[in-house]
Amino acid sequence: MTTIGVLALQGAVREHIRSIEACGARAIEIKHKEQLEVIDGLILPGGESTTMRRLIDSYDFFDAIEAFGNQGKPIFGTCAGLILMARAIDGSKTAHLGLMDMKVARNAFGRQVASFEAELEITGIAADFNAVFIRAPYVTEVGPEVEVLATYQDQIVAAKQGHYICTAFHPELTDDNRFIAYFVEMVEESLESMALAGL
Ligand code: GLN
Repeated sequence: MTTIGVLALQGAVREHIRSIEACGARAIEIKHKEQLEVIDGLILPGGESTTMRRLIDSYDFFDAIEAFGNQGKPIFGTCAGLILMARAIDGSKTAHLGLMDMKVARNAFGRQVASFEAELEITGIAADFNAVFIRAPYVTEVGPEVEVLATYQDQIVAAKQGHYICTAFHPELTDDNRFIAYFVEMVEESLESMALAGL
C-alpha cells in the first residue's frame, strides 16, 4: 500500500494523517529520519518554519529529507512546509531545504489578517477549492521549471516543480480532500515509474 509520511516534529500533523487515510493511502508520523526509508512520499506540514527548521537540525533530518527528494520521491509542503521548500526567502540571507526554485514571503498577507478563507481555482485539481490560509506566506518569484497551480489576489499560493508541490494554504483543514488526493496520485505515479525503471 502507498505509504505517506508526515514530518511530525511540530505543526498540523494529525489533520494530514486523517486526510491521507481518507484518500485510501497509509499515513505515518515521521519522528526519526530512519522512518523515511519506509515511506513513498513526504508531507512537510504547516506550523512555524523557523521552529521546524530548528527541529529538523536537532533531529538530524536535513540531509535525509534532501536525499529523499533527490531519489525522486514526492514531497508536499503546506504553509510553513512551503517556506521550508523554497530556494530563497524575502528579507532573509538564508533559506532552508531549497528544493523548489522559488522565492517566498512569510506572513505575506499581513499579520493583522491572521487567517481567512478563499475559493480558489487550482489547475488540474479543482475549480472551486475552499482554501484556509493561516498567517500564510506566498510565492514572490518562480524559476522556469516551476508550474503555478493557483493564485489569490494575483499572488502565487500553490505551485509544482516535478515531484515537489506546495501550497500557502492548508488543504488538510477541510473535508475537501482533492488536493491531498492529487498528492497521493503523484506518489502512486512515482512508485509506478520507479518500478518501470527497476529501482
Ligand atoms: N507564518 C508561518 C511561518 O512563517 C507559517 C504559518 C503556517 O504554517 N500556518 O512559518
